[in-house]
Amino acid sequence: MAEQAIELANLAEQISGCPKCALAKTRTNAVPGSGNPNADIVFIGEGPGFHEDQQGLPFVGAAGKFLDELLASINLRREDVYICNVIKCRAPDNRDPLPNEIDACTPWLTQQLDVLKPRMIVTLGRFSMSRYFPGATIGRIHGQAKRIDDVLVVPMYHPAAALHQASLRQTIMEDFQKLPDLLERAAAEEEQPREPQPTQLQLL
Ligand code: SF4
Repeated sequence: MAEQAIELANLAEQISGCPKCALAKTRTNAVPGSGNPNADIVFIGEGPGFHEDQQGLPFVGAAGKFLDELLASINLRREDVYICNVIKCRAPDNRDPLPNEIDACTPWLTQQLDVLKPRMIVTLGRFSMSRYFPGATIGRIHGQAKRIDDVLVVPMYHPAAALHQASLRQTIMEDFQKLPDLLERAAAEEEQPREPQPTQLQLL
């Protein structure tokens, strides 16, 4: 097993037994994440729902099915990317995660990203967006890429939003179509000398 896979598996094992917030008491399974340890793109959702909690895997419900469609629309499969969440355990009744739960869980995500070192991060929904764009509104910045440190971050609506609001379906699909070009640009930027300050990319 490659080094990243081993480190991610070690983290997953620790996350599965994590007692650091109250959600440990109500979860069936923690959901560390899944996918390619060498992925160029990491998708970060919000937290596990009912089916994810049952199976211990991210995005396995209806929103996951739509995510698979979105990936397929840009010729990607789950095995090509890595998918995880801001919080690793389901919040009861799918309520929003509390600030103290996000704070407790954030070090796990940080450690996963330190291992994965992706070229691009796609945030799905407002909680993962807030990690990189505090105070921003998803309606204003969705689909707009920004280089933050060593990674290009692209905020997007959560696929579940399209299930509840049909008009967002087209928006998410259009934002996904930008990813191949953005990934190419991210790769090209890595070969250029870095700017001293973060650079806002203009979309095509
Ligand atoms: S949500 Fe995160 S911090 Fe809370 S118990 Fe689960 S893994 Fe630990």
